[in-house]
Amino acid sequence: MKKDMYSAPSLAPSQTPDPVETSADLQALAFRHAAIGMAMLDEAGSWLDVNEEFCRLLGYSRPEMLKLGYQDLTVAEDIPGSEQAVRQLLSGKCDKVNLDKRYLHRSGASIWVRMRASIVRNHPGVGTVMITQVRDISEERATREALRLSRYRLDLALAGAELGMWHWRLNSGRVQFDDRAVELLGYRSADVDGRLASIIDLCHPEDRPSLRTQFQRHLKGEVGGLDLVVRFRRQVGAYLWLLLRGRIVERKPDGSPLQLSGTLMNVSKWKELEQRLTRLATTDELTGLLNRRAGEAALDSEIKLSRRRGAALSMLLLDIDQFKQINDSLGHDVGDQVLAAVGRHLRDATRAGDCAIRWGGEEFAVLLPGTDQSGACEQAAQLMAGMTRLGEDIEAVDRLSASAGIVSLRPQESARELMKRADALMYRAKAAGRGRMECDLHTCRVNKEATNPASLS
Ligand code: GH3
Ligand code: MG
Ligand code: MG
Repeated sequence: MKKDMYSAPSLAPSQTPDPVETSADLQALAFRHAAIGMAMLDEAGSWLDVNEEFCRLLGYSRPEMLKLGYQDLTVAEDIPGSEQAVRQLLSGKCDKVNLDKRYLHRSGASIWVRMRASIVRNHPGVGTVMITQVRDISEERATREALRLSRYRLDLALAGAELGMWHWRLNSGRVQFDDRAVELLGYRSADVDGRLASIIDLCHPEDRPSLRTQFQRHLKGEVGGLDLVVRFRRQVGAYLWLLLRGRIVERKPDGSPLQLSGTLMNVSKWKELEQRLTRLATTDELTGLLNRRAGEAALDSEIKLSRRRGAALSMLLLDIDQFKQINDSLGHDVGDQVLAAVGRHLRDATRAGDCAIRWGGEEFAVLLPGTDQSGACEQAAQLMAGMTRLGEDIEAVDRLSASAGIVSLRPQESARELMKRADALMYRAKAAGRGRMECDLHTCRVNKEATNPASLS
């Protein structure tokens, strides 16, 4: 039989409460009504008594609890820990033990509690008893677990996305990177100089103005945050494309910015893919030259540039002669080989800044920025002569020639008008017997003998 440690004073409203006479009564009352779960254990580790809060916590009545005992109500895995706590107290090595453990609720659910146990040794009339207090920490545990899980998921997401964080305290002028950002840039924490100027130095010179502008605009409140792709230099090796995002996260009482925080995400793979896709979308597969769409855009932008700078702009439109015959007599594959060779030739023979385009089929355009009519004729003559040599180099092709129209941009002229003139001149060259070029002022015949603009006919 378990001892009854307190006699319950009746507080029924119809009766006058018994006067609390002794300190033992007070203690029994405190034990019974404590807002925290409490239990008393004898030296054998059996419950002598449990209070109302403890009973409420586990969903049992007091007699049920006392009948079951703590071993029955403790989750099996946590029994060794509880027994060890009892042994520790009894061993005399310590007077208090703390332990987080799980009890089984009547419903079958387990409840995490934080248990604090203390021992009273050889108390007169009572002997040695252990007193435990238990506080329900299920919610706290669940919150902690949820936090751990969300941190874990965040870590996973940050690592998967190759994402690092940065913090810039404006008053110190220093930028702090987290370990992932430091690692991303190929540094060890100790190597990173966090001064803002050094950070800007890490940024590719071409990207620095936009980085500075975005920072300034955000600090002035003109944009809600930073969001730009810039190149940062890794400690070793190439630049890294980073998506830099951030915003003001702390302000002074007067509203001025105090700290900016944000992320750095490695988007090099996306950027490379984007560049590859752009290349694919703008390049003609067979010849490796710009395709028609990209060529038209290039022509528009060269026209604008030429007008802005007051510089000349010329263009050559070139069409392979009797190409259908090559296809018909030697096959489409040889025709393709010829087109690819012409593409290589135009690419190799043009100067940096010139732009060779496969305008369509066996028709090519070459933009010659900063080149006037006579310079364009000279350049065109060399390209055309090269075409003739190309024919000699391709086996099975007896003769390769092209006809061309050369134009120079006139004031107010549109791209379409310029192209129309070039096309008309090119057809004039065809009509005049092919293998020649026509420009506004001259008719030029190009063949093996006449490759020099001085020999224009
Ligand atoms: P001209 O001297 O008047 O320009 O005669 P041409 O035979 O060169 O011109 P035409 O317009 O009659 O024929 C052009 C041919 O180019 C027809 C077309 O099948 C061929 N062609 C267009 N694109 C390709 C291509 O990508 N590969 C091959 N092999 N042939 C192509
Ligand atoms: Mg042709
Ligand atoms: Mg044609």
